[in-house]
Amino acid sequence: MDFLNKLGKKATETYQVTKEKASNLSEEIKIKSKIGDYKDKIKEKYNEIGKEVYNQIKDGNDVSKDSIISKCDEITIAKNEISKLEEQLLAIKKVRKCSECGTEIPIDSDFCSKCGKKQPKVEKVEIKEEPKDVKEAEVIEINNVENNEESNN
Ligand SMILES: [Zn+2]
Repeated sequence: MDFLNKLGKKATETYQVTKEKASNLSEEIKIKSKIGDYKDKIKEKYNEIGKEVYNQIKDGNDVSKDSIISKCDEITIAKNEISKLEEQLLAIKKVRKCSECGTEIPIDSDFCSKCGKKQPKVEKVEIKEEPKDVKEAEVIEINNVENNEESNN
């Protein structure tokens, strides 16, 4: 009986891990696609700045800061958003980057497994609440995982 109880407990744990992985994965995909959008935007702005500078030089003008400053600001904003999203990604994967060498290490590590550098205390990363419709989509995915598991057993 004891053995069966343990088995049941083990199965529940496995299921919970699978469920967590499934929702983390869709969260990861969403964040990665947002990062991709910001990267596209940055490329677009670089392009616009390049064209603007080219046109001014071609016409024999000095490059005016006024015409490109707002595009530079947009790039800076997009870069900041990307670093925020990258922090969220690390938090979801429960890892962080070593302050010395940049290796991804478990979030609660005191030392880097690669270079041995002592790590600063973990900062809490806020993860924004997702809209309700997205959550419902996730629930459907999780249910599918559960069904697959049952049919495998
Ligand atoms: Zn390191």
